[in-house]
Amino acid sequence: MTDALPQSPSEAFELLLSGNQRFVAGTPDHPNQDAARRAETAPSQAPFAVLFGCSDSRLAAEIIFDRGLGDLFVVRTAGHVAGPEVLGSIEYSVTVLNTPLVIVLGHDSCGAVAATRAALADGGTPGGFVRDVVERVTPSVLSARAAGLTGDDDIIAEHIRQTVDLLMDRSRVLAERVAAGQTAVVGLSYRLADGSARLVSSRGLPGAEGEKG
Ligand SMILES: [Zn+2]
Repeated sequence: MTDALPQSPSEAFELLLSGNQRFVAGTPDHPNQDAARRAETAPSQAPFAVLFGCSDSRLAAEIIFDRGLGDLFVVRTAGHVAGPEVLGSIEYSVTVLNTPLVIVLGHDSCGAVAATRAALADGGTPGGFVRDVVERVTPSVLSARAAGLTGDDDIIAEHIRQTVDLLMDRSRVLAERVAAGQTAVVGLSYRLADGSARLVSSRGLPGAEGEKG
């Protein structure tokens, strides 16, 4: 099964959500996972979405959105923290492959967020490069604290919003593409238990809940 390629951010978002709904319902189609699709996409790729999510093993991108080969350009780091290589990867997909949608995917019980909350609570910082992850999550946790948000879901949502804002603030070409209506940046919060993805923030998705100027 091959879908028509979505042209607009809204079409891409609808296509992505429909796959998540199949996954939640336990009725996946497993589209684009056969030998024909492999052959079709070998010469070139045209993914309809960038999936920038947490590395958590339970957020397997093509599974939870019921997609296949050539559909998603996937970038994942612990706690979806974004440094230069992440920003460059997203910019590559959006500008070279003309991808009409960028998803930021966070989730409940995120270990990176929990580690950051623990580090802030006891004043200690983790060793090695885990420290870099915690340092990049810290502004979100502090922002949540300043806003009086204390629940896990609320803090996760704040981190997702902050990540969407960071992509827009740091990447000029991404902001330009969003302003031109060529792509959207959408933050989703994933629930591990039921597999659903809830919209918490969006830029460039007309009419969406959480849309921000
Ligand atoms: Zn996580």
